[in-house]
Amino acid sequence: MIVTIDGPAGSGKSTAARKLAARLEIAYLDTGAMYRAIALCALQRGVELSDADALVRTAASVQLSLDCGPTHTRVRMDGHDVSEAIRTMAVSAATSPVAKHPAIRKMLVEQQRSIGQRLGSFVSEGRDQGCVVFPEADVKFVLDASLERRAERRFQEL
Ligand code: C5P
Repeated sequence: MIVTIDGPAGSGKSTAARKLAARLEIAYLDTGAMYRAIALCALQRGVELSDADALVRTAASVQLSLDCGPTHTRVRMDGHDVSEAIRTMAVSAATSPVAKHPAIRKMLVEQQRSIGQRLGSFVSEGRDQGCVVFPEADVKFVLDASLERRAERRFQEL
């Protein structure tokens, strides 16, 4: 079974995806973690976030691997576990400039599809999951919430 959850920041996608995956006893694919890992790598290598070519080269040169359980995602970058390091505010701020590049999105979409193939059944959460990455998904959700609720959730996360 493939389930996708899309929606804007702070709409509760991650919480819903984790709970659903745990309930169905299938894997949770946290695609935001992949974009965060590329952003962390760019920060660690001192890549200028406005330098599109350097960002794309960074994304192409880094080896990502994800361990997707029902309630957790462990992320390894070039063999190092960066699961906690990708959650800092600095990485959050650097992620959206990284995620806007079509070439980087294309690379990560390919990786998401190959992870999905390996997992078989999973709940995938993040932008483009239902419409672009897994159009064949059995169930597709788009979550939304009021601006106040989204801001409050992001505030609590921080
Ligand atoms: O979900 P999370 O907050 O970890 O995602 C971090 C950022 O990664 C998002 O704000 C978005 O810029 C980017 N992202 C994306 N496409 C996805 C998942 C995340 O562009 N599928």
